[in-house]
Amino acid sequence: MDVEAVVPRGFCHGVVEAMTLARNAARNPKTPRPIFVLGMLVHNQHVIEELRQMGVMTLDGSDRLQLLEQVPEGATVIFSAHGVSPAVRLRAEARALHVIDATCSDVFRTHQVIHDSVERGYFIVYVGTKNHPEPEGALGHAPSDHIALVTGVQDVAKIPFASDSPIAVITQTTLSQWDTEEIVQATVQRYPKAVVFNEICMATQLRQHAIYEASRRVDAVLVVGDARSNNTKKLVEVASRQGGVPAFRIDNADQLDNINLEQFKKIAVTAGSSTPSVVTRQVIRQLRTGTGSKNLEAETTTIEKATD
Ligand code: SF4
Repeated sequence: MDVEAVVPRGFCHGVVEAMTLARNAARNPKTPRPIFVLGMLVHNQHVIEELRQMGVMTLDGSDRLQLLEQVPEGATVIFSAHGVSPAVRLRAEARALHVIDATCSDVFRTHQVIHDSVERGYFIVYVGTKNHPEPEGALGHAPSDHIALVTGVQDVAKIPFASDSPIAVITQTTLSQWDTEEIVQATVQRYPKAVVFNEICMATQLRQHAIYEASRRVDAVLVVGDARSNNTKKLVEVASRQGGVPAFRIDNADQLDNINLEQFKKIAVTAGSSTPSVVTRQVIRQLRTGTGSKNLEAETTTIEKATD
């Protein structure tokens, strides 16, 4: 079996920056203790375990305003790369917690777009994923009667805004470009004067394009990443729906035995933006050494260098 290591893959700038902030906080003796992350810093268990070993604890749960109450007085709280709502920020300030904000700059820009659009009188159609921290934070940046979450084309008919309302369509950063296009088109059909802000970040776009191109050269795709990582799930979807090849997700090399990869002559391996490169390299090494395959590096036309 030949194994193609797709480029770019793995850690993006937002994850690298969040990890650096959390590691520096743990290493700095002046950082008030204990140190908590509100939600998973990034969606990967290997990263969470590394932080735990450094003394940085993760508070996991769906309502971050509630989770915040578990942080003791005088402690440090780290906001994850997914960003938080203004209500969470205000509550942390009110409780005089020491805040380290690891919100990705791309997510922060989306918050600004929502805020500015509301100021200019728009109602927001936010295209995103249910029960994910990024939409939870983003939705809090507009009054609840001015923003509606749309997760698929089926939701467009249920948007509660009148057809003559000024509408701004704003997307989550880690969606599939292809699925989003369909949802945006359906929304614009219902609100022809809607303005559209495609906020899918460059890291997500480049990784999706790379796996789409690779999937046309291989028989199957393997995505290394956590089950809760949205961009990991989208890489699987892009390979299977747009690329038309079987696509599998694994957490790490231990799960390789769960998939019968021997049936394929050539596979492409990629990784979600929150997957440590050491985990992906182990998968690639195991696949290559296990089969005596050719080592193929992906052709890539993208400008971003692989961060791993
Ligand atoms: S996937 Fe995009 S938005 Fe999310 S952390 Fe990485 S660069 Fe930021």
